[in-house]
Amino acid sequence: MHITLAHNVQYIIKTLEENDFEAYAVGGCIRDTLLGKTPQDWDICTQALPEQTAACFKGKRIFETGIKHGTISLLLGGKTYEITTFRTDGNYTDNRRPESVTFVSALSDDLARRDFTINAIAYHPDRGLIDPFGGAADIENKLIRCVGDAENRFDEDALRIMRALRFSSALGFTIEPRTADALLNKRRLLHNISAERIREELNRLVAGDNAAQVMLKYSSVITTIIPEISNLIGFEQNTPYHDLDIWNHTIKSMTHVPADKVLRLTMLLHDIGKPPCYTYKNGKSHFHGHQKIGAEMARHILRRLKYDNNTVHTVTLLITYHDADIPARAKAIRRWLNKIGEHRLRQLLAIKRADIFAQSSALLSPRLEALNAASKIIDEIIEQKQCYRLSDLAINGRDLIAIGITNGSEIGQTLNTLLHMVLDGEIENERLALLDKSQDLH
Ligand code: ATP
Ligand code: MG
Repeated sequence: MHITLAHNVQYIIKTLEENDFEAYAVGGCIRDTLLGKTPQDWDICTQALPEQTAACFKGKRIFETGIKHGTISLLLGGKTYEITTFRTDGNYTDNRRPESVTFVSALSDDLARRDFTINAIAYHPDRGLIDPFGGAADIENKLIRCVGDAENRFDEDALRIMRALRFSSALGFTIEPRTADALLNKRRLLHNISAERIREELNRLVAGDNAAQVMLKYSSVITTIIPEISNLIGFEQNTPYHDLDIWNHTIKSMTHVPADKVLRLTMLLHDIGKPPCYTYKNGKSHFHGHQKIGAEMARHILRRLKYDNNTVHTVTLLITYHDADIPARAKAIRRWLNKIGEHRLRQLLAIKRADIFAQSSALLSPRLEALNAASKIIDEIIEQKQCYRLSDLAINGRDLIAIGITNGSEIGQTLNTLLHMVLDGEIENERLALLDKSQDLH
């Protein structure tokens, strides 16, 4: 098996070996190459201790931020290469990453501490693949399998539970039965893992091609990190719109939005407010107000998982409006554009489309047609550079001052009134017409 290593990686390995230290490309980059993908970044592992590695690359740009765990980052041609000393992990406490690591001289010990067989393969330009755990065969068979005893490995670091799901989702691999059983048994250990680390894996899990299948199969892991989701499972909806329980509807809706973190998280949480809003009247279920309650619950969940403000804001806004009416009329669309902006309005349409796709097929086509028509109108408004924001208005505050309207709040109110008249098509966005109208309003 021959792998063409990136030029800089060859240089790094050669430099270390000229100094009598073994060195290999290892981990994700080898996995991705075997999968026929171009690796995002290349990791190198070596016998050299961090200070010895640093000495080998004297005069180059080096960052020592990971030195405690044996990692030196080397900057070559604008790219960063992580060079990590062969190590085993020290004692694990609290099912988290070890605080201390022990440097070792054998590659095999370093490979044995890695999480999954597919990530425990090294490559050397002369010696070829070093694959003591059968990782290449598991890649061939599309399997995620722990290196060593699965239960022990999840005991050591429970984040690996989320990583197994993430790789399964991103790569479309099956989790091998013993690894799957162990991760289900050990899922509660995720409570010991920091929200930030869980969040990073969750992001990659939801954005994977196989997210829906993985989340459905391992629902109990998902409810361990987001307990609010338990109430969706098996919750039948008895409405003309739905033929699935809330959780299956949720999962199905996720498959109908692009592989984007914000859109997938929105779909995951869009109906989270339904259970507390449930009422039953005249043989039908109702979920009045679930959009608002759901947005609040989503805010709480995302904050708990330490999401950034922008993600929290966008997801909650999309949930708030996921059932709002967006009539396919220019006037209404301009108002929506004014309210939430072009990007978010397009996101909202994508969300609504996915929601509809996951509902009863009987009602599908007229609702989809309405969304397509709305989307076309957005295109036209944007293409024609129609006015939908104050900044698009053909006059501004200075123009009003010039015609004698000097009171600050009146200026604001007048501009707003004019903008809404333009949005509604009651007046052209033309300087003279607008100034004329301002005089009337004054
Ligand atoms: P990608 O960069 O595409 O996410 P990756 O496999 O490179 O995939 P990283 O998180 O960058 O994933 O980790 C690099 C390597 O370090 C992995 O391939 C694996 O060998 C090892 N590794 C990472 N996290 C763990 C962990 N929690 N437990 C054991 N080994 C790990
Ligand atoms: Mg990586």
